[in-house]
Amino acid sequence: MEECELCGSPVSAPYTVLVEGVELRVCAKCAKGKKVMNRPASARSAFASSRGSAPKQQKVREEDLDVVENYGGIIKKARESMGIPIKVLGEMINEKETLLLRIEEQKTLPSIGLARKLERALNIKLLAQPDVAEGAQAQRGQGSLSIGDFVG
Ligand SMILES: [Zn+2]
Repeated sequence: MEECELCGSPVSAPYTVLVEGVELRVCAKCAKGKKVMNRPASARSAFASSRGSAPKQQKVREEDLDVVENYGGIIKKARESMGIPIKVLGEMINEKETLLLRIEEQKTLPSIGLARKLERALNIKLLAQPDVAEGAQAQRGQGSLSIGDFVG
C-alpha cells in the first residue's frame, strides 16, 4: 500500500499527476482537478462519471484532418438510411437546412467542426488524415501562370 504524496493517506492504486512540472503519486481525491498522467484502471469509472468537459485526448490534431472526398454521398446515404429529412438533421445539429443541402450536393465543404457534428449525428466517418502530407505541397508554386497570360 502506497501513501498519497499530497495528503499521506494510504492508496492502493495511486494516480500519477503532474503538479507544477513534478510527477506525484496521489490518491483519487487529490488527483481531482490535477493533470493526470496515469490513472489506475480500477478507478476509471469514477472518472468517467465526473467528466463533464469535452474529451481532450485526441491523438490527431484537427488541422491535420481532411474531409473525405465523397462526403456529400456519405452524409446523404446515412441520413436516408436513418429516415430523417434534411430539415430534421439541421435541427439535430443546429445548422441551416440550406447549408446541409449544399453540403450533400458537395457544393460546400463542411468545416471540421461541422463535419464532426455530422459524424456524431449520423454515426459516420467524414474526417480522415490526408495520405499525402508533404511532397504534394512542394510542387505548388512551379509554373506560376498569372491570369494575365490567358487574357488576350
Ligand atoms: Zn491524497
